Amino acid sequence: MSKKTIRDIEVSGKKVLIRVDFNVPMQDGEITDENRIVEALPTIKYVVENGGRAILFSHLGRVKSVEDKASATLAPVASRLQALLQKEVKFVPETRGKVLEDAINQMQDGDILMFENTRFEDIEGKKESKNDAELGKYWASLGDIFVNDAFGTAHRAHASNVGIASNIKETVAGFLLEKEIKFIGGAVSNPKRPFVAILGGAKVSDKIEVISNLLNVADKVIIGGGMAYTFLKAQGFEVGTSLCEIEKLDLAKELLEKANGKIVLPIDFRFTKEFENEPASHVGPITDIQPDEMALDIGPKSIELFAEILATAKTVVWNGPMGVFEMSNYAYGTIGVCESIAKLPTATTIVGGGDSAAAAIQFGFASKFTHISTGGGASLEYLEGKVLPGIEIVANK
Ligand code: ADP
Ligand code: MG
Repeated sequence: MSKKTIRDIEVSGKKVLIRVDFNVPMQDGEITDENRIVEALPTIKYVVENGGRAILFSHLGRVKSVEDKASATLAPVASRLQALLQKEVKFVPETRGKVLEDAINQMQDGDILMFENTRFEDIEGKKESKNDAELGKYWASLGDIFVNDAFGTAHRAHASNVGIASNIKETVAGFLLEKEIKFIGGAVSNPKRPFVAILGGAKVSDKIEVISNLLNVADKVIIGGGMAYTFLKAQGFEVGTSLCEIEKLDLAKELLEKANGKIVLPIDFRFTKEFENEPASHVGPITDIQPDEMALDIGPKSIELFAEILATAKTVVWNGPMGVFEMSNYAYGTIGVCESIAKLPTATTIVGGGDSAAAAIQFGFASKFTHISTGGGASLEYLEGKVLPGIEIVANK
């Protein structure tokens, strides 16, 4: 079912509450990755250019006590946004009260205001994160309409999304949320085929639901990364000291049976004794592994095998690195997969998952994917086939 977006409503002269996801990584007060701010610009610009009054808010990190406030203020994000938009963004360092209300009442059409980290409301009783009824109602009272554009928190029912939506006339999607629904939602509900999913990352336990759901909808499910060793062990291979979840072996066996040939595992690996960025001591099939060795990446034959499977795909969803890509000697598999996906100009290619998205960007493939999701946890739950509360609240067309 398609969702209403800001294109479907009148914003002119309206106080438009926009829940953005400005939960950006910060180090010593500096934003280290501004992708989420950049991705929110189209919605903000649209509201402003069409004469709406844009009232922006977001969470940033976790705020448990008053001491956390200094490092969790959204002030640096407001300055960065102002620079990106080349337009004044009035920052109000409050989450409620007269100062905020007066500032909103003084706004003119086309103005932008941003208020403080919604999680400042978590200090006394987790009001934001527990969707406190009074808080959602209060924030809803500050505006006329609600635009949810925060995909990164769409898997959570908080006061700043579900709470507001329950207390306001209409909730629509912003352009970023629309894009995430179109690509991730589209891939799991109505993919162009062949649909190849490529999964990796550290743990099977994090991704059981994803594997299970994708086995229902994808034509092939490639499994690499740390997860692969639990599956290889389940097939009876020794995996040395590689990552392996013994308590998930039965489940891995079940998934392999259910898969009926859909699951493709790596066929060669990079072996080493220590978890260090030293070149692999040897490369080969899993049967070559010594009891005191671990596999930290897939090998060249696996990269080739995966490339052949990906070559025919019309839809690709990639979630989870193929190896310990943070170490250059074990980044080959992840880079190889990026290269194979980059060669598919007509396929819809989607990256979900925080580390995979970071890898795609870090290795210079950002522009080669159709869509890089801005939500780590949210994209995982969406790929699991779950209904996300932050999407549920958006009115249907
Ligand atoms: P995403 O955030 O994309 O969903 P995950 O968080 O599931 O991905 O997994 C990312 C982590 O998996 C990375 O830190 C990476 O180092 C680790 N990883 C990948 N392959 C291996 C491996 N063979 N052994 C140990 N860790 C691995
Ligand atoms: Mg991760």
